[in-house]
Amino acid sequence: MKNRDMILRGIPISPGVSIGKLFVFNRYKLPSKINRSKLNVDKEMLKLQKAFDEAKNELEKIRKHIGDMLGSDYSAILDAQLLFLDDEELHKAIYKQIKENKMTAEMAFRSVLKQYLTDIEKQTTSNYLRERAMDFKDVGMRVVDKLGGILTSNIKDAKGKIVVANDLSPTELLNLSQESIAGIILASGGKTSHTVIVARALEIPMVIQVKEIIDKSQMDMNAIIDGKGGIVVLNPSEKTKRQFEKKKKEYLDELNDLKGISDLEAVTVDGAKLDLVANIEIPLEVNIALHNGARGIGLYRTEFLYLEKGFPPTIEEMYRDYSNVAKKMAPYSVIIRTIDLGADKLLNDIYYGKEDNPFLGWRGIRICLEKELIFKEQITAILKASLDGEVKIMLPMVSTVEEVIRAKEIIAEVKASMNYPKDRYVDLGIMIEVPSAALMSDKLAQMVDFFSIGSNDLTQYTLAVDRGNHKVTYLYDPLHPSVLKLIKMTIENAHKNDIWVGVCGEMAGDPYAIPILIGLGVDELSMSPISIPVAKKIIRNLSMSEAKIVANKSLNHQNGKEIREDINKEIEEKFVSLKGVFNLGRIEHDNI
Ligand code: PEP
Ligand code: MG
Repeated sequence: MKNRDMILRGIPISPGVSIGKLFVFNRYKLPSKINRSKLNVDKEMLKLQKAFDEAKNELEKIRKHIGDMLGSDYSAILDAQLLFLDDEELHKAIYKQIKENKMTAEMAFRSVLKQYLTDIEKQTTSNYLRERAMDFKDVGMRVVDKLGGILTSNIKDAKGKIVVANDLSPTELLNLSQESIAGIILASGGKTSHTVIVARALEIPMVIQVKEIIDKSQMDMNAIIDGKGGIVVLNPSEKTKRQFEKKKKEYLDELNDLKGISDLEAVTVDGAKLDLVANIEIPLEVNIALHNGARGIGLYRTEFLYLEKGFPPTIEEMYRDYSNVAKKMAPYSVIIRTIDLGADKLLNDIYYGKEDNPFLGWRGIRICLEKELIFKEQITAILKASLDGEVKIMLPMVSTVEEVIRAKEIIAEVKASMNYPKDRYVDLGIMIEVPSAALMSDKLAQMVDFFSIGSNDLTQYTLAVDRGNHKVTYLYDPLHPSVLKLIKMTIENAHKNDIWVGVCGEMAGDPYAIPILIGLGVDELSMSPISIPVAKKIIRNLSMSEAKIVANKSLNHQNGKEIREDINKEIEEKFVSLKGVFNLGRIEHDNI
């Protein structure tokens, strides 16, 4: 039978192209039946203890392996699982099942584990606890295996293959990664899960939310994964294989081209220096940022801690994370953005009511100024962390001057209440992501220490196009001259008032946008950590005078398409050596 390409799409998570066979990851079979009358309680308890000890030994080994490979932050992922194995209540509950209900150690363990997971599932909508449930499931399966449960997938068989699963826990991925797997395709999976972060750190191509993958895939089926395009091809034809072989080679050549760049500075050929910094959501990403040569954190999105718990974290919890990031990034600075909840990031604990237009509603600084206590607690945590490193505060969704005045008053109140040292100053910046803020940037620049342009929202609000609505994706373009004009105005007003200005939306890492942004005069670009090497390479090959010409021309175009065509021409004629990195860093329009 002739191979027919079956193309599936998902969310691109970790770049790279692999062509090979699928390994469908299955968990465990059901336990076999036993004769209850012959059950010996002591023997079953001994079996259980032995299984726990073996599971612990294995986990310790994986922890060491991953610690050696990626550092202690990653190995700490396993702490929850190790603690779980020592839980006294768990041991008691299993013992009860064995003794009173005449269950084998395996059955008793499975039933207690199931109850644990059901309780968590019932009690919470919190992503945080759901992730912990995944941890328990994971370590539970390891124990079941030791108790004689049969693994239907032998992980060793995954060597060199593309792993398919509904979801994977970080430990499962760490296990699999010891077999140098060629890629990961998940049917579900969250964009900011620990599994995703580990896959990126290990540089394994990964695509998530490929909804049909479980139904359509079979063990050892031929397949292709393109981790940057978010594409999976099952049963590829020879022609498709050749096409992706080419893509893979290009990708590897491009990567090769970037070797060693992370240690270099982002300076144009005529000596203009840019600050290239990273966007992060959880502290673990600092390692990836540093590895890719980030010289600071330009946007630390802090909603994650709230959303994973489902309610506001304690000051201590926030402080621990913020301080951890600040210490690790020192001497570079960390810009902590106060919570940008609302719109599509809702928290159980805050009543939002039903909003007809949530993106135009109660969001970001608007919530903080009304829910003052929540805001004050976060500011307290940030100020505490500022004593441990170089920390700056940034406010999201600012649309009026009054919001900044009030936020400054609250910050001053918090400082006074905590006796913040008089000789310490924490810079305050705002995001420019609402057109009114860009248009009022002359006034706003007199009130703060820096601006950071949130081009994701600035594009959405300027062009009146919902950034998450696929029906109108064709209209969503940060390179639209209308957006560029607002950016230009913002930069000019910032510089007139002697403050610096950065860009922290996705466009900061888009090769097409970089020449324009530096030509318009931005001082800092903050992007996803894995985009930094490409951005550095582009900057190091451009001159400021060339960038200015590109920027000026762009402002006179009619749309973003014309701008890209212009830049493509420049590359063909003048910057042929940059063709590879442009390809590598290009933002797929669909995935903005
Ligand atoms: C932006 O709007 O560009 C931005 C960086 O903020 P977020 O994507 O978190 O809304
Ligand atoms: Mg935004």
